[in-house]
Amino acid sequence: MSKAEAIFKEVDKAKRIVITSHRSPDGDSMGSSAALYHVLKKMGKNAVVCHPDHCPAFLEWVMEGCEWYTHELAPDKVEELMSEADLIFCLDYNGPDRMGHGMADLLRKSNAVKIMLDHHPHPDDFVDIAESRITEGSTCQILFDVIEEAGKLNYLDVSSGEAIYLGIMTDTGAFRFSSVNPKTHEIISHLMKIGVNNTAVHERTFDNVRVDRLRLQGYAISNKLEIIQHFHIAYISLSEEELNRFHYKKGDTDGLVNMALSVEGIKVAAFFSEKDGQIKISFRSKGTIPVNGIAKEFNGGGHINAAGGASQASMEDTIKHFKALIPKYFNGLNAE
Ligand code: 5GP
Ligand code: MN
Repeated sequence: MSKAEAIFKEVDKAKRIVITSHRSPDGDSMGSSAALYHVLKKMGKNAVVCHPDHCPAFLEWVMEGCEWYTHELAPDKVEELMSEADLIFCLDYNGPDRMGHGMADLLRKSNAVKIMLDHHPHPDDFVDIAESRITEGSTCQILFDVIEEAGKLNYLDVSSGEAIYLGIMTDTGAFRFSSVNPKTHEIISHLMKIGVNNTAVHERTFDNVRVDRLRLQGYAISNKLEIIQHFHIAYISLSEEELNRFHYKKGDTDGLVNMALSVEGIKVAAFFSEKDGQIKISFRSKGTIPVNGIAKEFNGGGHINAAGGASQASMEDTIKHFKALIPKYFNGLNAE
């Protein structure tokens, strides 16, 4: 029996299925959760989505029609559902800690069968069936492949198809990252054939921006973009006060680090933001330059070209620490 068949054998047996994903949800975690939800419901299964926290407003559309709770807003309900579940899906994360303390504890305490679908490197050993494909660009692509390998593509419809499209689109920078492979486009072709409207997914997700968010981006780029020419590095930092000035909402700073990386000649970009009493850091790079090494210095990790971490120090000290680490991690860059 293939792994995909084993996964759906567990689905057949299960009475109560909970779909989980990581904290600070993105298009891939929301898309894979919504897609799996719709597929399971179509199979007649009892399924519900339980996430650590709410998603940014521009991703809410994908959850339409899903039964969906967050530990942040409904901790008792999520605790009840997690403790009663006999099958838990762990989507788009490689270890319980990526869900935050509350949800991680509930997952560890649960006796349910656990199945992971994920593409992050170095997965923890925390599930019964691990479908970890670290060269894939998105969990949504893995989810499609697993459904296909199990011979269940007939359960995909426009709702689940749009959700898979969303996750692939957002985790590949709209089909431009090196993680895109021929299969990615074959999947998109299949989705369009079953009626997914590609333009509608792009518009709902990207052409739906609050003016405050646009002004915050303008401010960040014109006032806060710093270039370290010698090392081909660009970075942006935003304090809590600056975020508040533009009535910050979750998701408003998504993509800023990629704008810093888009500067001509820049090979590595960093974005520092003061959120929830700590400094959250995002790293991005072009080509073969890894940024997950420096992310580990900030208690984080991630992929070669996209990684992140956090710091408990002040913004000033965090940036000082980052600058001090540049020669260690990016020394090769100054020669290019
Ligand atoms: P982002 O910059 O979009 O928050 O994160 C990019 C990638 O870096 C994520 O997909 C994840 O793999 C990784 N990442 C971000 N923050 C953390 C963190 O705090 N810990 C770990 N282990 N990985 C992180
Ligand atoms: Mn992902």
